This record gives sequence, structure tokens and C-alpha cells, in this order.
Amino acid sequence: MQKLFFLSLFTALLLVGYKSNGQASKINGRLKVENKIDKKNIVENSTMVILTGDSIQKVTNVDENLCFSFDSLTSGKYSIQVKTIFYYQDTIVRNIVLKIDEVIKVKIPYPPFCIYRNKKGKVCPICHKEDEVIPVVYGLLVFDPEAPEKDEEEFYSGGCMVTGCDPKWYCKRDKKEF
Ligand SMILES: [Zn+2]
Repeated sequence: MQKLFFLSLFTALLLVGYKSNGQASKINGRLKVENKIDKKNIVENSTMVILTGDSIQKVTNVDENLCFSFDSLTSGKYSIQVKTIFYYQDTIVRNIVLKIDEVIKVKIPYPPFCIYRNKKGKVCPICHKEDEVIPVVYGLLVFDPEAPEKDEEEFYSGGCMVTGCDPKWYCKRDKKEF
């Protein structure tokens, strides 16, 4: 799955170069978010883009269109790392080859691959059953003082932090979040 992700990331990487008159090389990039304006806002305010070359490292933010840009670059091999406080994994695009006076455009699919994005819904990936599966609930849980055990049976507390890559279900048999 990991391999597939990097492969699709690589094919999604759009490289367009054109000649300019004597200017240094440049990388223009954009994060391609799945949808929704509120999500865009979150990404804009929590994302850092790090460019690493043979002898340099530059850091920038994304603008309101989720674009970023690195200019005055020399030719060579670069990698771009997208870092955010909202997802566990960084997205890294490696082996960007920049020629002299070249401008490269990079599109990065975002958010990155999430291990909890399963398509089987409520079916546990270990026992392949759903009879012991309960929903994971985030935020403050309100317990019924009359029957606290009953409430605990029906929900599994996922804590207060929602990261954008969170499990939806919990299998009580296998003690597995998915
Ligand atoms: Zn199970």
C-alpha cells in the first residue's frame, strides 16, 4: 500500500519546464487538497514545506491557494517535504531534478495516505467480524451515571485530539482500532 502511494504520488507529480533568460532555477508547487474550504484553511495555517538540496535547506509556508515557491536555486537534485501538525506522516517527494534556469511545477496530493482510510467500514481487519466492533468517539464523553458500564460498552474513547487520520472503529475482541 505504501509503495502504491509513492507510485501514485510520483505519477501525480507534474513536471513542466521552460527556458527563461538567465534567471536562476525555481520550483513552484501546489498542494492538491481533496476538497472543502475549511479544510483548505486548516492546511494553510498548519503546513510547512521544506526543500532539501545537496547543500541547502529552505523552509516556507503555503499561501491561501496552498501554493509555495522556492526561487534562486541552482541546478541539482532536490526533495520536498510537506510537514503538518495535523497528520502523522509527512509527505515527501524525492528526486526532483532541476536544470539550469529551469522552472518546475510540482503538484502534491494532500492530505497524505492515511492508514485508517479503510473501505470495509465496520468489519474488523483481524477477525473479519463486526459483532464486537464499537465506534470510536472523540472529545468529551458524557457518561450516564445510572449505567456507566453500559456507556463504556458502546463507545471507545479516542481522546480529544482529532488529527485528520483517526480510527473510526474499535474491535473489542482484538483490541484493535481501525
Ligand atoms: Zn476483531
